[in-house]
Amino acid sequence: MKKMETYSTTVVIVGSGSSGISAAFELYQKKIPFILLERGDKVGGAGKFGAHGMFAIHSKQQDEKGVDYGYEQAFTELTTDNHYFVNGELLSRFLKESGANIARLDEMGLPVTVEQSEQKPHLNDPLVYHKFNNFKDKMASWDKLPEKFTADGINQVLTNTSAIDLDYDNGLKAVIAADNQGEKLRIETKKVIFADGGYCGNAKMMTTKYDDADELLNLGEHKSDGTGIRLSQKLGANTYHNPVLFAHACAPSSTINPMARDSSVETLTNLPLLWVDQTANRFVNEDIVYDFALWGNAAHNVGGKYYVILDQNTLDYFKNNEVNLEDSFERQFCDVGEIPRTSVGPLPNIQNDFDQAIKSGEVVVGKNVEDLAHKLGLPIDALKRSLKNYNQAIKNKNDEVFLKPANELLFNVADGPFYAIVEHCAILGTLDGVNVDRNCEPVRKDGSPIKDLYIVGNNVNGLYSDGYPSFEGIANGFAFVSGWIAAKEIQKNLA
Ligand SMILES: Cc1cc2nc3c(=O)[nH]c(=O)nc-3n(C[C@H](O)[C@H](O)[C@H](O)COP(=O)(O)OP(=O)(O)OC[C@H]3O[C@@H](n4cnc5c(N)ncnc54)[C@H](O)[C@@H]3O)c2cc1C
Repeated sequence: MKKMETYSTTVVIVGSGSSGISAAFELYQKKIPFILLERGDKVGGAGKFGAHGMFAIHSKQQDEKGVDYGYEQAFTELTTDNHYFVNGELLSRFLKESGANIARLDEMGLPVTVEQSEQKPHLNDPLVYHKFNNFKDKMASWDKLPEKFTADGINQVLTNTSAIDLDYDNGLKAVIAADNQGEKLRIETKKVIFADGGYCGNAKMMTTKYDDADELLNLGEHKSDGTGIRLSQKLGANTYHNPVLFAHACAPSSTINPMARDSSVETLTNLPLLWVDQTANRFVNEDIVYDFALWGNAAHNVGGKYYVILDQNTLDYFKNNEVNLEDSFERQFCDVGEIPRTSVGPLPNIQNDFDQAIKSGEVVVGKNVEDLAHKLGLPIDALKRSLKNYNQAIKNKNDEVFLKPANELLFNVADGPFYAIVEHCAILGTLDGVNVDRNCEPVRKDGSPIKDLYIVGNNVNGLYSDGYPSFEGIANGFAFVSGWIAAKEIQKNLA
């Protein structure tokens, strides 16, 4: 039998996304030898290909701008928003180190600038969101970091290589990894940091935790299969927690990223029209379309799928007219200084776009209400009741049940043909995993830490009770800070 290749180092970091690259940067600066393992053919993760920015308080930029929002407000709001189901020590440490982390990003070549939220309901929120100065430059700078880390020959970055197991006997002996040909290697080491990004790429874990897993548009890091969570659990770590999905907006496909195409079907998805769930009932004030996390949560709450209902008159109106409703994604695509459009239309291609979407199943058309209900498998009485009540709300400009603002009560749904856009809850990852202490060490049920292991980023329990809050940038901010915390703790432990 071929002998397993053996390496030796002080720290193994599993994953090179936000938390892993942050940990690596700290160890590199402090000259602590490490091997960074990355399953993909390049460094990255959701932090590189996805995230636009991050949350922080008391960054130098915020202080210079006189931002009047700090630790007390952030700690109180995040604790109460999560109904006290938080790891207070960890939350506190994250918040207190989040400002200094912004300065580190500059040193890493990933600069950010504090700016106003891109989401309409948060335009007047305190300045807490730090946006990468240039998305493409961020990706390029990230790709250059391995060269920097390995230049003096102390560290190694192994791409196409995944951690698969641990050799642990009253302390860590080695991390067992495999390259993408299945060839195993043994890395003898003192400490390991699991920065592998949660479990949204693990179909079994997803279906076990989420009833609606099959309906979700999964935009997260598919290479994240829960390695760190599973291996810590095997060593006795407490993984008890509510499942927390990083739900974020919705889209008319469970496979195609809405950013990847330009269709009127996407435009109408992003407006507060009439929505019904899989029981044909309205389920939320559709104005929630302007808050991505809460919009996603509302869809997740009704089984990950709902329908936007409209009739031919509405479709024709959009074809020929400008409508005073803002596309909820409009501000995401504005360059700095560009003034966002607060209306949509005319949409001259709308009929063609809908006809194409009917062929792909993203839109269903019915010649009358009965036909639509039949094709969608919805109870006809409930659908008729929902349309009647909604049309009444439009007529009276008064939504007595869900309280949608009068200026959004624009289109009744009265004359066939009727259309239903089939919407899926989009997710950016998962946000529950392992219980940790304030140093990001996994803990057992009795609270005692498991020696030599660190768990960071999306793998960690304790910041969210059950869903992502409407603060932007917490996930990525925490990922960078938690990687930094783990690396600093290792430094202390090795001293
Ligand atoms: C499209 C998109 C947009 C987003 N926008 C924002 C935003 O604007 N603000 C915000 O706060 N958050 C945002 N997020 C979430 C944010 O990116 C994540 O919370 C953050 O990246 C988590 O960091 P992480 O290090 O835990 O995981 P990641 O950054 O995903 O990194 C995990 C890495 O581990 C690697 N890996 C997995 N398993 C193994 C293994 N066994 N061995 C070796 N390597 C492994 C993966 O390949 C990956 O490179 C977004 C996410 C997406 C998908």
